[in-house]
Amino acid sequence: MKRKQFVCLEAGCERVIEANNDEELVRAVQEHVAEAHNSFELEDFILAGATEVDCGTTGPPP
Ligand SMILES: [Zn+2]
Repeated sequence: MKRKQFVCLEAGCERVIEANNDEELVRAVQEHVAEAHNSFELEDFILAGATEVDCGTTGPPP
């Protein structure tokens, strides 16, 4: 099973956010960006920058 992963692009953050699907990923990233950066990411931007990872792997994408 694959999971979706998005690395926050805000300067100095580099928070890695993972979710089971696109919908959850968008929601999780938007929540993080709103809380941590008082900002907003567009859904299209999040999905364009998202990567798929194998479930169980914890390392960053290559
Ligand atoms: Zn962040």
